[in-house]
Amino acid sequence: MFPAAVDPAEVAANHAGLRRLLDDCADHGLGAMLWLTELPCQGGPWVPAAERQRFLERFPAEVLSDSGTYEGKVLCFSHPRVQEFYRDLLARFFADFPEIETLFLFGLDSGGEFCDPDACPRCRGLSRFAQRDRLLNFLIAEGRKVRPGLRVLTTGWKWDRDGEEFLRRQAALPAAGGVYLAAQKDGWQCERQAHDFMREARHLCRERGQTFIGYDNFHWGDDTVHGLGDIQDFPLGIAAKLKRWHELAADGIFDHWGHAPEDIWCNSVALREFFLNPQADAAAVCQALARRQFGAVAGEPAFAAWQALERAHAALSPACLWSPEQWPGWYAGRRQLPLPGPDGFGPADLAQTRQPPRREGDREYNPADFGEALQAVADAWEQAGPHYAEAARQLEAAEAAAGDEPVFYHFWWNGTAPSPTRREHLRRQRLYVESMGLAGREIGRHFGLHARWEKCGHDATAYRRLAAEALQADAAACRHASDFFTALGAPKDWGRLYAEKAAPIEAYLAGG
Ligand SMILES: [Zn+2]
Repeated sequence: MFPAAVDPAEVAANHAGLRRLLDDCADHGLGAMLWLTELPCQGGPWVPAAERQRFLERFPAEVLSDSGTYEGKVLCFSHPRVQEFYRDLLARFFADFPEIETLFLFGLDSGGEFCDPDACPRCRGLSRFAQRDRLLNFLIAEGRKVRPGLRVLTTGWKWDRDGEEFLRRQAALPAAGGVYLAAQKDGWQCERQAHDFMREARHLCRERGQTFIGYDNFHWGDDTVHGLGDIQDFPLGIAAKLKRWHELAADGIFDHWGHAPEDIWCNSVALREFFLNPQADAAAVCQALARRQFGAVAGEPAFAAWQALERAHAALSPACLWSPEQWPGWYAGRRQLPLPGPDGFGPADLAQTRQPPRREGDREYNPADFGEALQAVADAWEQAGPHYAEAARQLEAAEAAAGDEPVFYHFWWNGTAPSPTRREHLRRQRLYVESMGLAGREIGRHFGLHARWEKCGHDATAYRRLAAEALQADAAACRHASDFFTALGAPKDWGRLYAEKAAPIEAYLAGG
């Protein structure tokens, strides 16, 4: 209906790629689900201006409307031609790919892919939530005509900020509309919470006959330092996560990011083991895995490293408040000083972007008080720090003891890219824990300083008195991180940014 919507070459490439994946799934008797994140929109500031402009030529102007956010124009679902477009798309898609059993519809990935209820002449007064449900109901009703049994699931993400409204709306969706739910917005490697809101959502889905999928990170994590080519093994955390989903009686799990299969992550092996038996003795399984993967000698310190990393993750798990602003790849504090002044602390909306309070038994997550929330993140990184350091030491010992033979499970991989040797695999795991430990320590100190700034009521004199020692520690953490990331040469600019953050803190402490 809108022939210019997507370039034909891109459609052809995606078509062939999806066909190949589904054929591979069929070889193994696997079903398939399709994850849709952004709905058609111009896209945020990260999309080049020319591309944003081109979007306006892909669809007739009359079917576009304003999102009211930096996502710009979106397809207005109130327009009959847009509904016709989706109906046509469903028919053609499922004629070619009947194997897809479930659609996972995200929406609000980056803040707004629905119409602005105040600005759109057709959607006026229809909240984004109501617009989401209208689309879900449409996809379920029309999709099931061309693909019997189709389910269309949604997610918590920003939708569950008001938990009561989320549950009320979930209850009103048909049985074919369940959820992929993460405890704190997105799946994070360290996080293994099972709070009351998750239990309620799970219970509701069961009552309504809806599917409930655990949304998690079982391999690469967006909460890590990006782009290092590291191997992020945490098999004891895999055990903790699967125990959680098993205890919640989830219908399945969703691994958010995946990984490079040739690297044969130990997490993959652990995932298989604990899927077969979620109540297995985690330590025994992982110790045997380490010995097998790296050899009897190197396997022992490798396992000790995983134990230390598990202690770090357990310390971080209750404090996933700013997801993602507290994680290394998203942390704005690398460019912001923990000092009074216009460039201090920030970002300005930090008090508004944290996760809503949740409760698990007598444990509370995400305190409502801003200062307490900042301090919770600081405390978690502070507790995790020594365990990251211990994990790095153990991996160094494992690396020294490992040989150049391939990891044991390399036979899992039949592609052309080579699998790493035992030593190389351990080296890349060490890169993971070292980078996380150093970046995390500095993040924790920055959040702790921000908590002090709130505590002293933004009084610069009181802050200087209250924060001197902690500022010294933050400057030192910046210097360590700068040395590490400068030597590594990645991520680009981090070495320089940490050094540029340390210098003014040191000058301030010296009386500047
Ligand atoms: Zn509209």
